[in-house]
Amino acid sequence: MTATFHGVRGSTPCHGSDIVRYGGNTSCVSLQIPGADPILLDLGTGLRYFGAMQPIGKPFRGTCLLSHLHWDHIQGLPFFAPLLTHGAEVKIHAPSQDDGTTVEKVFGDTIRPPLFPIHLAMLPGKISYSEVGDSEFVIDGAGAGDIHVMSRVIPHVGRTVGYRIDWNGVSIAYISDHQQPCDGSLVASEGALELCRGVDVLIHDAQYTPEEFARKCDWGHCTVDFAVWLAAEAGVERLALFHHDPAHDDDMMDRIVSEAVVAGKAMGVDVFGAAEGITIAVGS
Ligand SMILES: [Zn+2]
Ligand SMILES: [Zn+2]
Repeated sequence: MTATFHGVRGSTPCHGSDIVRYGGNTSCVSLQIPGADPILLDLGTGLRYFGAMQPIGKPFRGTCLLSHLHWDHIQGLPFFAPLLTHGAEVKIHAPSQDDGTTVEKVFGDTIRPPLFPIHLAMLPGKISYSEVGDSEFVIDGAGAGDIHVMSRVIPHVGRTVGYRIDWNGVSIAYISDHQQPCDGSLVASEGALELCRGVDVLIHDAQYTPEEFARKCDWGHCTVDFAVWLAAEAGVERLALFHHDPAHDDDMMDRIVSEAVVAGKAMGVDVFGAAEGITIAVGS
């Protein structure tokens, strides 16, 4: 299994000569298992670039594991060019909403005039939806066999889930947005620990420095230190710092990542900073 980062920013896309090394697109990661259709983790603006890499002429088929419905995690969907082809299919798993509104209705109410030129349902490709909470389900990997998925509700702002994907003895967890307790304590929910326990790779929220967290402690995110602690606590092999704050330029990111690498090493976790365009092998 490989994971490719197409967008690694949190909150809002950003650009400029000072962020070119980590990139400015919002959350989107693709997982590729040989013989299986791609699995997308979120649909942020990085999705447009994943779409541009897809072969022309063969209708796209894939699955999305969506963490939640905040803009930075869905904004790429109307610009996903493979949906302009008849026969294309994307199945979106997303958290059910507290007020009972279906995920299909949320998307339909968001991607439509006057907010967007056309209604999402007018795209030639087909989108289907499946709602999740604390769930387990299987994605048919065709020749690659079954792909096991676990979702768990994660503290953030609004209904949010994280995912764990297990296939053929390798595992990856994705928790893009994760509220740390506001007093800064190092405590995680049982669900978050379940997702992370013993995985080969954890992709995790790393939005704030301790100073930023002190000012924004209830904005739904956590510190880099919290991400490293959680990875160590759950026995994670490799941690990808993710959902970088849009105000963090490349030099600041280098400092944050190098400090986290040292902290991770002391706790037995191999840490790196997720950057746009990089592909990693999971579990080998
Ligand atoms: Zn986010
Ligand atoms: Zn969010």
